[in-house]
Amino acid sequence: HTRIIGLTGGIGTGKTTVSNYLASQYQLPVLDADIFAREAVQTGSPILREIFERYGDRVKLPNNHLNRQALGEIIFNNTAEKRWLESKIHPYVRSRFSEELAQLDINTIVFVIPLLFEANLTHLVTEIWVVSCDRAQQIQRLQQRNGLTTAQAINRIDSQIPLAEKIAKADVALDNNSTLEKLFIQIDEALKRKDTELN
Ligand code: ATP
Repeated sequence: HTRIIGLTGGIGTGKTTVSNYLASQYQLPVLDADIFAREAVQTGSPILREIFERYGDRVKLPNNHLNRQALGEIIFNNTAEKRWLESKIHPYVRSRFSEELAQLDINTIVFVIPLLFEANLTHLVTEIWVVSCDRAQQIQRLQQRNGLTTAQAINRIDSQIPLAEKIAKADVALDNNSTLEKLFIQIDEALKRKDTELN
């Protein structure tokens, strides 16, 4: 693989919008770290067993599913427990990614990694794309889509690394403050530009 585009951003800044466009317009395969992370704790998985051993019934739903909210509350204010959980989930995400990658015979692929920087997964990709929008815009889109209060939206935004820091580390910064059309033009250009640089 020559290009592995690591697509990230802030919560609700447009990652899905960008990856859907890359898939539909350019037929690029899209892998998603969140899907692998959910798979890691699916019912009956070895990691889920370890989670139940560590935290007991308080993180268990009656049908042996994970009580995500309860687990979230445990790790939200406890760095050591958060690290423990990450030490289980991140290696799983990395190995699932490698597995999928090995099966793809295409030289450009997209890996959507919402927590690319937070989870230190930058080494998995050959270029980093950050899609961003203004804070006010981000709050508004989050409220509209998820029905959150302003305070809830702000809380989620502030639990991530500030967007400005992510943009500073990006190879490609996509500005998603305006229309979808304008976003798509930037994507077209980024794909072309990088192709030229690589050739
Ligand atoms: P999450 O982090 O929650 O997974 P995301 O980064 O994947 O979100 P999207 O789902 O692509 O973000 O976009 C968030 C919301 O904003 C969606 O409802 C989407 O339709 C809307 N949106 C994205 N870009 C634009 C735009 N340029 N104009 C208007 N609405 C937009």
